[in-house]
Amino acid sequence: MARINVNTLRKEFGEGSDAVVAVEDVDFQIEDGEFLVLVGPSGCGKTTTLRCIAGLEDVTSGTLKFGDTDVTDLRARERDVAMVFQNYALYPHMDVRSNIGFGLKLSTKLTSAEIDRRVEETAAMLGISDLLGDKPKELSGGQQQRVALGRAIVREPEVFLMDEPLSNLDAKLRAQMRTELQELQHELGVTTVYVTHDQTEAMAMGDRIAVMNDGRLQQVGRPEEVYRSPTNEFVANFIGSPSINLFTAEVNGDTLVGPGGFSYTLENPSYVEGYDRIRAGIRPEDMRLVSEGGNNVDVTVVEPMGNENFLYLTMGDIDMTARVDSSMRPQAGETVQFAFDEDALYLFDAESGDAIK
Ligand code: ATP
Repeated sequence: MARINVNTLRKEFGEGSDAVVAVEDVDFQIEDGEFLVLVGPSGCGKTTTLRCIAGLEDVTSGTLKFGDTDVTDLRARERDVAMVFQNYALYPHMDVRSNIGFGLKLSTKLTSAEIDRRVEETAAMLGISDLLGDKPKELSGGQQQRVALGRAIVREPEVFLMDEPLSNLDAKLRAQMRTELQELQHELGVTTVYVTHDQTEAMAMGDRIAVMNDGRLQQVGRPEEVYRSPTNEFVANFIGSPSINLFTAEVNGDTLVGPGGFSYTLENPSYVEGYDRIRAGIRPEDMRLVSEGGNNVDVTVVEPMGNENFLYLTMGDIDMTARVDSSMRPQAGETVQFAFDEDALYLFDAESGDAIK
């Protein structure tokens, strides 16, 4: 049973006035067999959180549990985790067979026949059986990454911990490996924590995603949940590509008044009761071009994507993006009108950034 419990985890580096709080009171649980993606901008504490789970960093405070076992004070090799890093660092002088089997030779009492069997099974699973005799320098980046994964899989650990394992691959291969890795993880059913700064990767791969910023956990949820019901403006802005359109609006009774003459009368004004000012958000795909009754925006660039067009717009001093049907093709320089459904409008507290709708 490898449910993971991260309990009020805190990690500081350095001491006194030089101390850096890398991870601040982070709490979450990963279910047995689940694929959880830790995502956030550079420096937000993802890697440190992962290294604490691995036992590569001592925690400053908080506890870590695997199943019912408190592993907080256990060393890395006592935790039954296998890690895959961005720099997969294969042993250059060893062939693929030895690279995959090396950890097993060191850490288990398996016979060499048994090790061979497990290495071959793993290689078959990863589609690299015919490379077992090759040295790393004879392999492509994608093949090397598969070998690194093989090294983790062959150990049959309770937990996989992966830190940006695909970031050295080109875009096409990365997209392909995402799917493969996700399928493999579901097949193996090994609880996995996967770190990335790439929200597209997080959305595509995670059963759930945990969004971090500035050492703190912002939200944990299924990808669509985090996308559609972000807990705050940071999450709304970080998740989604192109990103959500955000602007400040004054609250005038039941009407929101924003930049460039934006005005919108709420059907349900209860959300903004007591607010003078709020932050409003509309996702690019929720912006509709209309011929009348909408708000004015100026078109700066039209980018045809084949099945749809991306429109780059300005509303007063705010840049916006809209994703519209490919039949909608205004000219750069034109002023057009947009509308949206109130259901698709996000509202945030202008001071705290917390979601109010
Ligand atoms: P990235 O995506 O850039 O790797 P990250 O989200 O994984 O970023 P961490 O590497 O966990 O972030 O770093 C979190 C914070 O802790 C940063 O401010 C970083 O400078 C600091 N930090 C990390 N490791 C150490 C260390 N060994 N000593 C001092 N500070 C550290």
